Amino acid sequence: MKQYLRVLLQKLFVGTLLFISVVLLGCSGAINDSSVTPDMSEVQVDFAPELTVVEIATAEQPTPQSTTAPTPLTNYTNGPPQGNGAHYDSVPSLPEIFFPDSMKPGVSPVAYLNNPCQYLENRLGEEKSTPGTVVVPIMFHSIVQPDRPINDTTSITIAYFEKFMETAAELGFSTITTQELVDFLDHNQAIPERSMLLILDDRRPGVTELFMPYLEDMDWTLTLGWIAADSTRDSVWETMTDLASTGRLDVQSHGYNHIYIQDYISTAQIEEELYKPIEVIEARFGTRPIAHVWPGGNFDERAIAMATEAGYQVGFTVYSRGPIMYNWIPLGEPEMAMAAPLMVLPRFWSTVAVQALEEAVMVSEAAKKFYSAIETAEREYYLYYCLPEGSH
Ligand SMILES: [Zn+2]
Repeated sequence: MKQYLRVLLQKLFVGTLLFISVVLLGCSGAINDSSVTPDMSEVQVDFAPELTVVEIATAEQPTPQSTTAPTPLTNYTNGPPQGNGAHYDSVPSLPEIFFPDSMKPGVSPVAYLNNPCQYLENRLGEEKSTPGTVVVPIMFHSIVQPDRPINDTTSITIAYFEKFMETAAELGFSTITTQELVDFLDHNQAIPERSMLLILDDRRPGVTELFMPYLEDMDWTLTLGWIAADSTRDSVWETMTDLASTGRLDVQSHGYNHIYIQDYISTAQIEEELYKPIEVIEARFGTRPIAHVWPGGNFDERAIAMATEAGYQVGFTVYSRGPIMYNWIPLGEPEMAMAAPLMVLPRFWSTVAVQALEEAVMVSEAAKKFYSAIETAEREYYLYYCLPEGSH
């Protein structure tokens, strides 16, 4: 093991930021769509304008990247002062980031914590999530009744919806809320080993009602990417606040007027998109949103900085990259270029929701093996660098 560590001495932990700046110059700019969308329908079987964006987003073929670990941000070889003086033949180092075989082309896992001691404390501490804990964020739009044709790639049939729910239960998945996700991402706080975030975009009281019996049966929650616009009818507010009173809805922001972020969108417009939903959701639902679901999946550096300033702790795109884990977010080039992994979290599409769960199980199982194999190295690193002198 020591020899292995020596070999890996230069390959360290969090290289996210430098990695991004060095490897990924320029965003693909793949997402270009109309700025304000007609996606305000409140009926159950509605056409989702994300369709175009979704297709463009997946059709892109990013340059394949090296599968080696990101360049280290800090060279810990000479790095942190030695801790408690434990005796080692060599200076401990952290192994490379977990890179499963199932990773899609052009997608790489990105670490977002730059303090390895804090990371290890949360990895190895008590009452934390077990290694290999995955979260599968899935975005839902329309769910179509049996007699209605499907003519877009964001709708699913009732039959597929039911199959998804059954598969999720069979595989032992359960839902978490956005707050639980944030606590997991920040502190590795304990969540179910197979977790999902079911996110329903736009304003869909009918689809929300379809979810309710499952939520009650399974003791699950549904996260809403809610459009907070003035144009929302009173009857819709009534239905939604009734449903929210069950405690099963986790209401988050999907903008105010569902404006797609683009260069020509004014700062004032972005401000409205980000700040008005906080005001409206607090007033209507009594909770403050901490996630912003980017309308159309569009984001840029300016909007991300403003969203962070507004207090949003996570953001979701429409890029399907894979399940997420603690300090481990699979990202493609456009998201990596933002250097803010938590604000551009991936989401699977409802049309492949069953496969998403199966993929997540594979990643979780592979990750368990990986983390089990490196646990000694992680503990050695922690003892060597992270414990204050004379602490034991
Ligand atoms: Zn939307």
